[in-house]
Amino acid sequence: MLENSPPGKKYDQKEYQRAYYLRNREKTLARQRNRRLANPKLFQERSRRSDEKRKDAKRAKGEEWKEINQERWNAYLKEYYIINKERIQNYNKGWDKRNPQSRNAIWQRHRARKIDQLGEWPISETEMIEALWSEQDASCYYCGTSLSLGFDLEHMLPLSRGGLHDWRNVCLSCRTCNLKKHTLTAKEFFAREGVGPYGRGQS
Ligand SMILES: [Zn+2]
Repeated sequence: MLENSPPGKKYDQKEYQRAYYLRNREKTLARQRNRRLANPKLFQERSRRSDEKRKDAKRAKGEEWKEINQERWNAYLKEYYIINKERIQNYNKGWDKRNPQSRNAIWQRHRARKIDQLGEWPISETEMIEALWSEQDASCYYCGTSLSLGFDLEHMLPLSRGGLHDWRNVCLSCRTCNLKKHTLTAKEFFAREGVGPYGRGQS
């Protein structure tokens, strides 16, 4: 039935379509190109939409897979970490340098959650640090020294003494005071050092 199908061979639709495509390839591509050139915006939008759809579907499928294969996923992450340890650590080191405050805040939150002492945060720690920075006039809550050389988000009532990681229980302190204060409450620290408070009217 087809002129160019060898005699005796069964008609194969797929092969026929392929042959047709190859014969008319140039023409088809030119037609598509012309349509695209005539209305580039429509085609850009269309390809953007289909890209997005594909990405969404892929992501959803990935999440579903992760849920079903929780253990395998965790094992994969562990293995990925081991293989890429050095690169990840180097990246994290750079990130620490770029975001010293956020790093400290994330660690505090993590620690508080672990021991079930996470309090309320109407704003994020980073925003709180910014607010305290101006409230305390960029100086240590305990000794009044400039915080520009480094500081910590400090719990006035230490977590180890039952304090919460809560926006009402934090201040900015210099590293020296944070180390010296250790497990003392702010009140006890003030009494021992005979200083402060320089910032918030709370002890
Ligand atoms: Zn200090």
